[in-house]
Amino acid sequence: MSAAQHPLYARDAAARRIIPGPPPASTVEDERLDVWGFKDSGFQVNDEGNVEVLGKRYAAGGDILTELLPWVRGVFDSPVTGEDQNPPHYPPAIPDAVVNAAFTAAVGNIFAAEKRSDDPELRLRHGHGHTQEEMYAIKYGRIPRVPDLVVWPTDEAQVIALVKAAQEHNVCLIPYGGGTNVTNALICPENETRMIVSIDMQGMNKILWIDPVDHTACIEAGAIGRNITSQLAEHGFMMGHEPDSVEFSTLGGWIATHASGMKKNRYGNIEQIVQDFRLITAEGSVLERFDGNPRESTGADPRRWVFGSEGNAGIITSAIVKLFPLPAVQRYGSVLFKDFEIGTQFMYDLARAGNPPASVRLVDNLQFQLSMALKPPKQGMAKLKSSAEKLLVTKLLGYDPNKMVACTLVFEGTEEEVSIQEKLLYGIAKRHGGMKAGGENGERGYQLTFAIAYIRDFIMNHWLIAESFETSVPWSGVLPVCERVKQRIQDEYTARGLPGKPFITCRVTQVYDTGACIYFYFAFYYKGIDNPSEVFSELEHAARDEILKAGGSLSHHHGIGKIRTPFLRRIQSVSLINWNRGFKKAIDPGNIFGVGNHAPESRE
Ligand SMILES: Cc1cc2nc3c(=O)[nH]c(=O)nc-3n(C[C@H](O)[C@H](O)[C@H](O)COP(=O)(O)OP(=O)(O)OC[C@H]3O[C@@H](n4cnc5c(N)ncnc54)[C@H](O)[C@@H]3O)c2cc1C
Repeated sequence: MSAAQHPLYARDAAARRIIPGPPPASTVEDERLDVWGFKDSGFQVNDEGNVEVLGKRYAAGGDILTELLPWVRGVFDSPVTGEDQNPPHYPPAIPDAVVNAAFTAAVGNIFAAEKRSDDPELRLRHGHGHTQEEMYAIKYGRIPRVPDLVVWPTDEAQVIALVKAAQEHNVCLIPYGGGTNVTNALICPENETRMIVSIDMQGMNKILWIDPVDHTACIEAGAIGRNITSQLAEHGFMMGHEPDSVEFSTLGGWIATHASGMKKNRYGNIEQIVQDFRLITAEGSVLERFDGNPRESTGADPRRWVFGSEGNAGIITSAIVKLFPLPAVQRYGSVLFKDFEIGTQFMYDLARAGNPPASVRLVDNLQFQLSMALKPPKQGMAKLKSSAEKLLVTKLLGYDPNKMVACTLVFEGTEEEVSIQEKLLYGIAKRHGGMKAGGENGERGYQLTFAIAYIRDFIMNHWLIAESFETSVPWSGVLPVCERVKQRIQDEYTARGLPGKPFITCRVTQVYDTGACIYFYFAFYYKGIDNPSEVFSELEHAARDEILKAGGSLSHHHGIGKIRTPFLRRIQSVSLINWNRGFKKAIDPGNIFGVGNHAPESRE
């Protein structure tokens, strides 16, 4: 290559940038409004009373899970069956829309008729995310306040015009990405008397350009993860942000919730991937110059106030993100350890060694058992082989089925990088008595998390209520936090005389030099409990209390929304509370962005 052919000489941005086509035709119609996910996927009980995985979208599609219900009955010590159901009453009663006539007329001048809707079911869907409270409410209760109108801007000029109209007519605006948050972030304040408009950013869903020299892309905020992934891949790139909700969550939502992807070890958390973004403020103007420089020292960085702003600060319309070439090699792996303590020691040593794979997740014994129960039983030779393997692991190598844990691994990079990481990791695993359990198990374990949200909705119909929550904690606190949270939930459960046994399990999902993220699942059998969702929230709050007492953070990546607001006083000083209050007043004195997430006002 002559010097002039070097990419650095492609100085004309317009000439070198790739302008991708539009994203795949909107698949919103393929999604369900009443539960998580695609219409063609999910779980159901078949005529034989076994759980069946529906659809062909996921690797497990078509599997018959004969061991699942018996396992569930044992673990929950409860009579869960396929026949005994609590049929949902979706849709619930939906409150009438509040109409501000002058504003509605103004909106008619900004948006074409098909880009605005007051359809009750759509309004309802835009007024919640995916917490157990929200999902229980839409199935068996109601949501007292939902947006009055939904609009789909297709460009930034429409967003600006909308904000100006909202200012003029005193209307409340709530940005909406994919509606996947698990913090009640989209729940409308019940006491909001103004008209509430949900701005569904999925109307702004294009990749505006890809710069193959700088390895950056400019992407509209409403682009959904699965489309970003497939479109960038067509040009040999990836963003590397892969939350478990990647199929449905959006770039704007990731920024607004301060998200973290499962491959953050290699590609970084969202704040490391996003270089710059455009935010429309309450004044209806753009926050600052939009240049995407790799780092700047230009005073306090206003962008840091927007990561995690959860709809309080303005509307993110697009972002410049870092790109990575698609990895030449992607290999899954898995390792078994004799117990969770040993597995955690392995994770610590791996983090210390400084070169972990893109994703490494350690699941505790209960979650390991769940992953086994979610496998269809083997047939023929495969059955024999599987029995022999089980015998080897449990009888000859001494792994106790009620203690053993598993680590799933995803390696990405060049062949050389992956080989180096594998050698390092399996060496450390060996020192901890770990046993390699293969790529197939690793891939299944990694993909399992995509099914969990479907399972949660399915089991709610069978009297099981479930939810997840997460924290980050220094390494020295990882085991204490796991133990104390499990114990606290068990104690609270027993004290209330609740039925059967609670299901409480954790995994270590992201590793850092100084600590880790821990992710909990909690569930219980709720038949016979009058207000299961409230009881669940009480226990989840107790778990959060225990996390904070044990030194964990209030959230690693889900955010605050409204669910964690009552705990803010425990992590914020009076100065910070005043600072936040002053900040909100200064940037949005009319509280146009009135979603009320972790806003000081909503805590009074
Ligand atoms: C099954 C499942 C798996 C999940 N896995 C992960 C995970 O691995 N990692 C992780 O970090 N999170 C995860 N989450 C949580 C959730 O997906 C994230 O919080 C995600 O970032 C939310 O994005 P969204 O587009 O759905 O935002 P929404 O839920 O639509 O909105 C969330 C908040 O952001 C605001 N907002 C949205 N878009 C904009 C915008 N353009 N401008 C300004 N504000 C905006 C909204 O007003 C709201 O307050 C998971 C959730 C589920 C249900």
